[in-house]
Amino acid sequence: MLRHIFKRVPRTEVRISAFNFSSASPAPQTEPDIHCTKILINNEWQKSVSGKTFPTVNPATGSVIAHVEEGGVEDVNKAVQAARHAFQFGSPWRRLDASERGRLLNRLADLIERDRNYLASLETLDNGKPFLDSYHVDLDLVLKVFRYYAGFADKISGKTLTVDGNYFSYTRHEPVGVCGQIIPWNFPLLMQAWKLAPALAAGNTVVLKPAEQTPLSALYVGQLIREAGFPPGVVNIVPGYGPSAGGSIAKHMEVDKLAFTGSTEVGKIVMKEAAESNLKRITLELGGKSPNIIFQDADMDNAIQSSHLGLFFNQGQCCCAGSRIFVEEKIYDQFVEKSAEIAKKRILGNPFDPKTQQGPQIDGEQMNKILDLIESGKSEGAKMLCGGGRHGDQGYFVSPTVFADVKDDMRIANEEIFGPVMQIIKFKTVEELLERANKTMYGLAASLFTKDIDKAMYFSNGLRAGTVWINCYDVFSAQAPFGGFKMSGIGRELGEYGLQAYSEIKTVTMKVPQKNS
Ligand code: NAD
Ligand code: MG
Repeated sequence: MLRHIFKRVPRTEVRISAFNFSSASPAPQTEPDIHCTKILINNEWQKSVSGKTFPTVNPATGSVIAHVEEGGVEDVNKAVQAARHAFQFGSPWRRLDASERGRLLNRLADLIERDRNYLASLETLDNGKPFLDSYHVDLDLVLKVFRYYAGFADKISGKTLTVDGNYFSYTRHEPVGVCGQIIPWNFPLLMQAWKLAPALAAGNTVVLKPAEQTPLSALYVGQLIREAGFPPGVVNIVPGYGPSAGGSIAKHMEVDKLAFTGSTEVGKIVMKEAAESNLKRITLELGGKSPNIIFQDADMDNAIQSSHLGLFFNQGQCCCAGSRIFVEEKIYDQFVEKSAEIAKKRILGNPFDPKTQQGPQIDGEQMNKILDLIESGKSEGAKMLCGGGRHGDQGYFVSPTVFADVKDDMRIANEEIFGPVMQIIKFKTVEELLERANKTMYGLAASLFTKDIDKAMYFSNGLRAGTVWINCYDVFSAQAPFGGFKMSGIGRELGEYGLQAYSEIKTVTMKVPQKNS
């Protein structure tokens, strides 16, 4: 129905972005039409019960893009009721062959691919990330994640068990039920895919709340979910604010499982609410302060480039950003000098411009939090080599900032900055390195750069993190699980492991007759 609105766009050669895209890329729609601003319940677009709306803003300019229906407790109740109904035993969704669930997920992926340019444009408008990153990086993994889990839908199987006595026992992996999913603003489409795809492949129904800063792309995917043919109530999308819409999901007695990605602070709140309501199952993907270790024998060019991207990609708004860079003394000066040199060259500006490598931060609140942490770095005595303030006076841009001579106890070495601010820390001996790298409440990711296989094995085994990258950074695959040790979260997303949180194991035991009667 909406297809005619998406004009065909000419293809242009991409010259430079966060990653070097060699292939031809489409030109973005710099002013994409906004089609979906309501609440999706039962495959119908609905207004909020309260009649309230909230604005979503273009962070590159600070201007309002659209007003979106503001979901609250009553809207969440309606959405959960719809999801509950769709999950009833014997419902069309529950009766659907597992292979058909896979077909629907594949169909959704095809529709996302059809509208890839539009979705990437919408994402850039609402979030501020460079269009080429939206198009090539985010959308690429979104498609892969939907297709990966589409393939899994009819491969989620239990076991037959060798039990004692005259019994036949087997396990069934059944869907958990109604899944509440609360996602952040840094990768809106991607986080939606990470949540929806495994939940739907396993046969659950969903009430998803996008972040209030970036509701638009998630809502448009809601339109594609309808078009793909998912039965009503299987996916419900309720835009709104954290404590109201999000809190109502976390506390709801009829939500069986909660998946949350966001801050550790809010992770603790929703876990408490999950416990105090109905002990709903919970998975959390929270913050990080990931160590990135550069040994003197590393391939320096690779280490410098990967560390640069590992920190500055997505405006530094990555839960796994390598924001504590430990560099061995012998190569320290060289690393610091080169890192500052390439940070200074980063191109900031209109995220729709193909030359732009860095867009704005998501909003004024995040920008001010980052600027405050930069000030703390200066006052606590770290050496600032570039950046250090706001870029321009329109939108929420922060200049790429590099701090050297950072000490372990500084705020910038401990707090999640979630912005384009790099911390470089010198190390002399490897004896205390593991202890220093692990000295954080977080444990999401870590990385190391070395050509020495023994060092790589020893340190990757010793690092307390859910993901360790060796001689690379930010490598994500639909097949490889991601999640945190310690206060970076609970559970894993992606890969086969990502299905565990979306299944209940049922043991069925049958008496076996001993003679033919
Ligand atoms: P946040 O944790 O407040 O928001 C994430 C999601 O949770 C949003 O959808 C939000 O509406 C919702 N939420 C907020 N309060 C809630 C509540 N009481 N109950 C239920 N849901 C609630 O994150 P933020 O305030 O947008 O960002 C703050 C910091 O969080 C960032 O500076 C960064 O350090 C971290 N963060 C981490 C990630 C990540 O990917 N792990 C993503 C975004 C932000
Ligand atoms: Mg926005």
